[in-house]
Amino acid sequence: MAENKSKRPLIIAGPCSVESRQQLSDTCTALASTGMIDMIRGGVWKPRTRPGHFQGVGEVGLEWLAELKAATGLPFGVEVANAAHTETALKHGADMVWLGTRTTVNPFNVEEIAEALRGTSARVMIKNAPMPDTGLWSGAVERIARAGIPTERIMLIHRGFVQSSGCDLRNPPAWHIALEMRRRFPELGMLCDPSHICGDRAHLYEISQKAADLSYDGLFIESHINPSEALSDAAQQLTPNELSTLLSSVRWRREAVHHPEFERELLQYRLEIDQIDSELFGLLSRRMKIAEGIGKIKRDNDVTILQRKRWDELVENILSRADSLNLSTEFICTILDAIHLESIAHQNKVMNPEAESKKR
Ligand code: PEP
Ligand code: MN
Repeated sequence: MAENKSKRPLIIAGPCSVESRQQLSDTCTALASTGMIDMIRGGVWKPRTRPGHFQGVGEVGLEWLAELKAATGLPFGVEVANAAHTETALKHGADMVWLGTRTTVNPFNVEEIAEALRGTSARVMIKNAPMPDTGLWSGAVERIARAGIPTERIMLIHRGFVQSSGCDLRNPPAWHIALEMRRRFPELGMLCDPSHICGDRAHLYEISQKAADLSYDGLFIESHINPSEALSDAAQQLTPNELSTLLSSVRWRREAVHHPEFERELLQYRLEIDQIDSELFGLLSRRMKIAEGIGKIKRDNDVTILQRKRWDELVENILSRADSLNLSTEFICTILDAIHLESIAHQNKVMNPEAESKKR
């Protein structure tokens, strides 16, 4: 099969869990007949958050996956969480193994998987850890690469991040964190897993299209012959037919095009954006100088840095203009938080110079 970035979109689909020979065969045969799938995914060891749920069928599921590979010609991948899983998966001819979010988070497990992969030829896909941070995700890539797996065989999967509340997605995406991973590891392909991001079927199209528009290399998506009967993740799986409809509607636009008129217009817009960014940061720098002035008079008058009432009023004032500015309240709050933190840091420098010098 095509290595890494050579095919876009790369579509990896299959059931959340391999449940029975029949379920797997019905699902994979239907997926293969769409002609849109590059590889089958299926979990045989399921990392369930709470005990008492279906834990996967184990090794026998790999035998079924291998049979289906022979029947359909489609390669397959499974989730591995330790060295024993990895060795067993490879023994049954897995073409790919992936590290789930609950594995990427644990350097011990990543290390033993990396060692089990040394000298083998399977592809490795690494999902992000549950928390919105690049540290463990990067660490997992580095550990796998150190075991001699070439970068053409490693891919990243953005599956969203655990949230405490307040969002209708199961694991909301943090597009900027995944983007930072692409900046750090430009040679790695990046897939989006809309199934675990969404947790239901309602937003799958929207998230998949967004991933396509953010230049992802493909999708890693769950499909079950009869989702309502699925033993895990029933609410987010699509039938092979529904998946094929979704895949036909997502538009994978090209990342660049050589068209003089387009390039001229784009350059014009970009110059304007560069100009605005330069003004924005100039203004922010002026704002911080003023914050330092405020810090001096607060220090001389022994007043705290934070005056809550003043800050609440400032936020309210700007939020009340959200509509006319055509900016989301979420964006305004994020920017104001960042400005506030930087402003406090500038005031702190003036008010507590001793603490500042100890930091260095
Ligand atoms: C899965 O892909 O079935 C899975 C368990 O995903 P995650 O590790 O993203 O929760
Ligand atoms: Mn799942």
